[in-house]
Amino acid sequence: MSIQIFNTLSRSKEEFKPIVPGEVRMYVCGPTVYNLIHIGNARPMIVFDTVRRYFEYKGYKVNYVSNFTDVDDKIIRKAQEENVPAEVISERYIAECRKDMESLSVREATTHPQATREIDGMIEMISTLIDKGYAYVAADGTVYYRTLKFRDYGKLSHKDLTNMRSGFRQLQVTGADQKEDPLDFVLWKPKKEGEPYWESPWCKGRPGWHIECSVMSRRYLGQQIDIHAGGEDLIFPHHENEIAQSEAANGVPFARYWMHNAFLNIDGAKMSKSAGNFFLVRDVVAQYDPQVIRYFMLSVHYRRPLNWAEEFVAASQVAYEKILNCGDNLKFLLGSAGGALSAEEEAMLAEAEAYRRSFEEAMDDDFNTADAITALLELVKWINSHVNGESSREFLEKVQYLFEELAGVLGLETERDDALEEDLASYVEARIEERKAAKKARDYALADKIRDELKSRGILLEDTREGVKWKKI
Ligand code: AMP
Ligand code: ZN
Repeated sequence: MSIQIFNTLSRSKEEFKPIVPGEVRMYVCGPTVYNLIHIGNARPMIVFDTVRRYFEYKGYKVNYVSNFTDVDDKIIRKAQEENVPAEVISERYIAECRKDMESLSVREATTHPQATREIDGMIEMISTLIDKGYAYVAADGTVYYRTLKFRDYGKLSHKDLTNMRSGFRQLQVTGADQKEDPLDFVLWKPKKEGEPYWESPWCKGRPGWHIECSVMSRRYLGQQIDIHAGGEDLIFPHHENEIAQSEAANGVPFARYWMHNAFLNIDGAKMSKSAGNFFLVRDVVAQYDPQVIRYFMLSVHYRRPLNWAEEFVAASQVAYEKILNCGDNLKFLLGSAGGALSAEEEAMLAEAEAYRRSFEEAMDDDFNTADAITALLELVKWINSHVNGESSREFLEKVQYLFEELAGVLGLETERDDALEEDLASYVEARIEERKAAKKARDYALADKIRDELKSRGILLEDTREGVKWKKI
């Protein structure tokens, strides 16, 4: 079966046909680096990393590009607050972001370009747009894109331009009066006092946000790419503007498939820095096994909203534990097993392949990781009831290979991380001591609170005659 992708452009599922057979060129808009990332930002990272892994599993060679936006108002503001150059801020948070990605098993991209290192390419593309009549220079040196000249404007977001224009008119802000039309957007803007800037034919200044992705995508992937992706908040205006820039400059269609993930919400609202309703990846992975977070993110299809709530994460923890137990069991049996596959085992292996088929069916259907996880858990159940001390080594190895291969597509480990287990054990022991002290001080409310907190992390305490024992739920 071929892979079907929901394309935002056509608002329907389409069969994936690569530009070059056997290859995927894919660009994913990355974060603006002025702060630590929150777990909402981690959703596209995990989702599209999984898409990449699945393509590779299917035998494609994937060229995966994801940028860091390292010049932006927020970065500049933060640099001014700390009284350091903007680069200090962006380099710091790029390094931190890489650590967070690694902790969530998000693989490094083929290339992670940075906007500030691609200014020449941006100046070149903006010049082409001016030459072709798609952009113009205002009196103060700002360069604007002449939006309505691009006939297809609005094709991605399916927006009605007439409504949009009247909306924009009411919202006219400073500087807008030098635009020919309210829909025009900035490609290059003059520097303000104390801001980083670059020389250009128009003025000393810096690029607008949208142009960087058109330029970096062309430089690292070519004029036409297979997949362009990001969170759904990027459809308009960011991706719409990228299409206008790239297609006008290059004269060929830009991306074939546009993929957008829905939001990670908290109490029904989008998790965002500005709303203040966020959890940092850094804090969340200190509290939970990062693999549980990855499992949680993939437990819902990427185009559905996902609600962040402790009980859902705890449920993911319980489910992921089943995967680890199965991995443990196989490892244990492999410790002493020997011998080659029996005829009976060979027949059983054919049966196990059915789980691979349901896994692939789910992933082929617009990367339905929710159903793929179900197939993986069914395989776990099957393994648990088909392996034992009598199993041959070859059988166990083949079963383990299948299990690890499918889990690996989702970026899930099947082996426990010993260091993490030790961390968990010492954390739980410390909390048990705290609870003991609370009880001694007759602070039963605190003792109960500690027990409940541990429970929400999937740890069950049992008061026994020999003292307090604990186990994972
Ligand atoms: P930003 O740094 O805000 O440009 O975001 C980087 C990426 O994270 C973009 O693809 C956004 O669409 C995505 N993103 C931001 N907040 C959320 C959220 N709450 N849920 C899912 N994706 C998000
Ligand atoms: Zn972008």
